[in-house]
Amino acid sequence: METDKLTPTKNGNTLNGFSLNDIGDDHLYTGLETPMKPDAFKLSDADKKERISILFEEIMDVMGLDLTDDSLKGTPQRVAKMYIDEIFSGLNPANKPKIALFDNKYQYNQMLVEKDITFYSNCEHHFVPIIGKAHVAYISSGKVIGLSKLNRIVQYYAKRPQVQERLTNQIANELKTILDTNDVAVIISAKHLCVSSRGIKDDTSSTVTAYYGGTFNTPEKITEFQNHINS
Ligand SMILES: [Zn+2]
Repeated sequence: METDKLTPTKNGNTLNGFSLNDIGDDHLYTGLETPMKPDAFKLSDADKKERISILFEEIMDVMGLDLTDDSLKGTPQRVAKMYIDEIFSGLNPANKPKIALFDNKYQYNQMLVEKDITFYSNCEHHFVPIIGKAHVAYISSGKVIGLSKLNRIVQYYAKRPQVQERLTNQIANELKTILDTNDVAVIISAKHLCVSSRGIKDDTSSTVTAYYGGTFNTPEKITEFQNHINS
């Protein structure tokens, strides 16, 4: 029975009467934009790394780890650098891929599918990995973009604390904006380590999300897109 999970908590740390712990485990999704503070970029990347390094050292210290040990002493700096320069670099709009558009000289006007784009993201509720594959498609409205740019757009939005629904919609939204068309589709299939390695500990389940815009939102185009992915 799941009902005991739904008991509202007494303190103020709730949303719609449910504890934030329970909501995190249920991976509730609140909107298209990644929730950021207005002053998110007041600190430079270098300053952020210094602050995170100090704070992560404190987390390790509180857990009782010996920060003078040769193996551990560089960890706070490594984590800070990894957060800012790598796994969460997509939070900073300065790292957004620059996309050049080209005229559709080939007169190709069917769907273009870029499939099996492997990505690594992190669950924003637990800060553990989400590992998945994204399949994206568009039908040109007159402009085309380089194929690798489709991969880069996926990677940019993946490198944030994420929920899969938002990642799907952010990629779709970016493609719609860049390509100036609603005719885009995104399917993401991913494994969430917060589900497989902890919590419910289900190692076999995966999560699938989809976005079908414009002419993609018809049974024929959905079938065609899915056939391309499975081919
Ligand atoms: Zn999670």
